[in-house]
Amino acid sequence: MLKEKSISSEQKTTGLDFDGSWEYSPAPESTDHITLKERYDLFINGEFVPAESNRYFDTINPSNEQKLSEVALAEATDVDKAVKAARSAYNKVWSKMSGRDRGKYLFRIARLIQERAREFAVIESMDGGKPIRESRDVDIPLVAAHFFYYAGWADKLRFAFPGRSVTPVGVAGQIIPWNFPLLMAAWKLAPALATGNTVVLKPAETTPLTAMKLAELIRDADLPPGVVNIVTGAGTTGAAIVNHPDVDKIAFTGSTEVGKIIMKSLAGTEKKYTLELGGKGANIIMEDAAIDQAVEGIVNAIFFNQGHVCCAGSRLFVQESVAEEVIRKLKERMTTLRLGDPLDKNTDIGAINSRMQLDKIHELIESGINEGGSVYQSSCSLPEKGYWCKPTLFTEAAQSHRIVQEEIFGPVLTIQTFRTPAEAMEKANNTPYGLSGGIWTDKGAKIFKMTVKMRAGVVWANTFNKFDPTSPFGGYKESGMGREGGLHGLKPYVELN
Ligand code: NDP
Repeated sequence: MLKEKSISSEQKTTGLDFDGSWEYSPAPESTDHITLKERYDLFINGEFVPAESNRYFDTINPSNEQKLSEVALAEATDVDKAVKAARSAYNKVWSKMSGRDRGKYLFRIARLIQERAREFAVIESMDGGKPIRESRDVDIPLVAAHFFYYAGWADKLRFAFPGRSVTPVGVAGQIIPWNFPLLMAAWKLAPALATGNTVVLKPAETTPLTAMKLAELIRDADLPPGVVNIVTGAGTTGAAIVNHPDVDKIAFTGSTEVGKIIMKSLAGTEKKYTLELGGKGANIIMEDAAIDQAVEGIVNAIFFNQGHVCCAGSRLFVQESVAEEVIRKLKERMTTLRLGDPLDKNTDIGAINSRMQLDKIHELIESGINEGGSVYQSSCSLPEKGYWCKPTLFTEAAQSHRIVQEEIFGPVLTIQTFRTPAEAMEKANNTPYGLSGGIWTDKGAKIFKMTVKMRAGVVWANTFNKFDPTSPFGGYKESGMGREGGLHGLKPYVELN
């Protein structure tokens, strides 16, 4: 919303410039309807209990660096308690319950999430820094959709695996990252519960709050105690879950680096595992593409959630004949992106999730400049407090540059050109990762011809970053193994005979 020039102190603090005779007027989402406790304990066996060590750590709002709450730091003894509760609930209740009844609980959780969607969206944006437009319109609706989708499967597993006897795996240890906190929890919990497993879930250190709100919701839904246990903590808490002898399956989403450590720990054990790791997605623009739409697609591919997206289209490949036009239009579009308060409904680019992540992004931008890339950043100003990074792109990027090889996990795009489809494919696949890719062209045949050659788990055509619970998601190579979502997402949680 724009209104005539009269600058309030509130407007000044947004740090946003509108270069004209109209001044930008923020439209912040109200926080009146949310309640956050000063302190959150662990959720074990249906109750909130303090960690044995009685230690807590702060969770802060990355857009203003203010403390939101503190959460318990779980250690191995707490993880052991949670696993015991999960085992007992598995043996006594959940594995014995009919699929129909399990489905009822999942439908109830899905409906409660819909009812409290605003509250979840606001807390997600406060704790993680993502724009409210995204948490409200993408994250939380998808969370509910995942629970609804897998609720539907709970009593139909015999149709999912015709002619096979289907039994749950047992206790699942689930470890999730900070970029889509509640959505990653839903991706993990919904299929595990639908198939009759019980769970110990660990949220990321910087974004535990929506998981703790989910714990409250799960209690309100009367889920039998111990079916879902949520333990907050650091990497050591995750490691304690991975190494616990009574956990039957590990589902991990996070960095390739930690994924490799987990794989080593699991080698030689009978634990099942799925690893959803990093990515460096190629987004390919052919000369026959609808350029204006492609430019929107590029923006969505890399600047959605500040680029904190494993499947982001972080490497752009443009056919040489249209490169100048695409880059010009992209730069123009970048100047219109609003960076600022994540709770403002007009914000396009929110805060970087943590100081650590911001430092990592800055280090990689620096390396791109030092290695000979030509950097361009949008002209927006940054708020004084909080962690922020301007939308950034690099032209003159070369295959050997770190910014082309390494996952930046921030709003930073590299641009390279190509002449032929074969060259585009060669460059697109020249990466240790294999999670996502995209292609923009007017020709359906070209889409089919090129996408089959792309070594990536998810490939979008004339769109990017679209998600659906019915669709499997996962990677090749260093992007991990196993699939989540859709029918495929049931398989890691069942034994088939
Ligand atoms: P990390 O791998 O650092 O952390 C992921 C989770 O693992 C966190 O909960 C973390 O705890 C925990 N953890 C850290 N060390 C260990 C350990 N040794 N053993 C067990 N658990 C551990 O990733 P980030 O949180 O930094 O997330 C960003 C990464 O996740 C990116 O590389 C991104 O590509 C990837 N990702 C992949 C997705 C996919 O589906 N393929 C989706 C989303 C993200 P703590 O927070 O306390 O450190």
